[in-house]
Amino acid sequence: MKRISHWVDGRIIAGKSGRTGPVYNPALGEQVAEVDLASAAEVDLAVETARAAFPAWRATSLARRSEVLFRMREVLDANRKEVAAAVMAEHGKVLSDAEGEVARGLENLEFACGAPYLLRGGHSEQVARGVDVYSVLEPLGVVAGITPFNFPAMVPLWMFSNAIACGNCFVLKPSEKDPSASLLLAVLWKQAGLPDGVLNVIQGDREAVERILAHPDVAAISFVGSTPVARHIYETGTRNGKRVQALGGAKNHMVVLPDADVDMAADAAVSAGYGSAGERCMAISVVVAVGTVADPLVRAIAERIPRVKVGPGDDPSSEMGPLITGEHRQHVAGYLEPDALGEARLVVDGRASVPAGPGFYLGPSLVDHVQPASSVYAEEIFGPVLSVVRVGTYEEALQLVNANPYANGVALFTRDGGAARRFQVDVEVGMVGVNVPIPVPVSYYSFGGWKASLFGDTHMYGPDGVRFFTRTKVVTSRWPDPASSSVDLGFPQNR
Ligand code: NAD
Repeated sequence: MKRISHWVDGRIIAGKSGRTGPVYNPALGEQVAEVDLASAAEVDLAVETARAAFPAWRATSLARRSEVLFRMREVLDANRKEVAAAVMAEHGKVLSDAEGEVARGLENLEFACGAPYLLRGGHSEQVARGVDVYSVLEPLGVVAGITPFNFPAMVPLWMFSNAIACGNCFVLKPSEKDPSASLLLAVLWKQAGLPDGVLNVIQGDREAVERILAHPDVAAISFVGSTPVARHIYETGTRNGKRVQALGGAKNHMVVLPDADVDMAADAAVSAGYGSAGERCMAISVVVAVGTVADPLVRAIAERIPRVKVGPGDDPSSEMGPLITGEHRQHVAGYLEPDALGEARLVVDGRASVPAGPGFYLGPSLVDHVQPASSVYAEEIFGPVLSVVRVGTYEEALQLVNANPYANGVALFTRDGGAARRFQVDVEVGMVGVNVPIPVPVSYYSFGGWKASLFGDTHMYGPDGVRFFTRTKVVTSRWPDPASSSVDLGFPQNR
């Protein structure tokens, strides 16, 4: 059985904890590797290695740091197919989707290549006679990233591109469900010339996370995952004096007004609801159909579902792959049972369109007349189940979205610019799409939800990423006028 281990000080280190976890190929439904699960002592080794690498990396010039980043951008670009294949093999998403994930991650590296510009401070001259004040952005030291299974290449790139550009050393704890992509990225960083020890990857589960949370030398933690874990990371990390940003789960709504282009909205609902088998934190989970649009919209979505080809990620005709594990598949299928549906009507049952074999597949499902009190509405499903809630007015739609505890992404479909503008102002959600179902910000903005979708003060990557991974120092300096110098410096006043 293939063994997936840690990456410390620029090389693979075999785990010594005696604990391992299974890694599956979800399309085959079988275990293909085992991953080492770190003990606290192994986390300590990674943190100590990063701490030892910090003084030299911090002192490395901005020119040299950005040179490494530019080279990493080229190396990753040259190896994007290999990284995407590693994602596909352990996550199950289709290859084109995995390639898209790598492309989005590359954009974060491209942003970070601008470190010399991004790390400029401010300067105020002559705040008092002979006194100047200036601010500098300094790295934090050793920082850690804890990432989810659903974007095993992109989310680490969200974090360590900026963290490393800002002069920090990084310890990554990827998801134990698909750990290979992060190891591959670490190898590519080395090829790009990143000094050993600046980036370390420690495989593991809760035990490793608890040690990161407690370690006195970890200055900051960037987390992405489910809301209960995000809340725990934020509360424990901040209690231990760390800077924490913890992105959590989601329940994203797509509001469709009566004037919307129904075909366009149905295409968007299908791709955003079932792409990556619904295992995206920005996936559309609920379509809110306003007024008369409901019947034609539900019909248009239902007509499209049989055309979504479900199959293994390496088959170019597949549009949707399996779920991450058999257990998760069972959990998602549970939302199609009568007790979860309540009064809702199952229009398309994904259990009936599963490819043969033991893969962790569940076809796309559509549920209409969903009531907000039912668990199919109230819980994050993280699978290919799309709910339709019917409301009478814009105000009811807005109230529904704003009452939801999650607030990651939302989309509005309309042909009316005034309605779109009003929605953008009224809605209490961190990322808003207008006729765009998955409004993931480009890398030079920052990514983040509100409410139970994000704990902390800064969003992820972009300008907020630079803020998160640096601390400001303000210097106030006084230099007397050279005229008062007792030494002849060559100024006319001294003569
Ligand atoms: P998860 O919360 O189970 O795991 C995330 C990370 O936390 C993993 O590295 C895991 O090993 C660790 N972990 C799990 N349980 C833990 C515990 N009890 N104590 C300490 N650490 C623990 O999430 P997942 O299933 O890997 O990913 C899916 C979730 O992530 C969904 O809820 C999804 O919405 C969310 N997500 C959010 C965003 C966002 O940007 N807001 C992006 C991607 C995924």
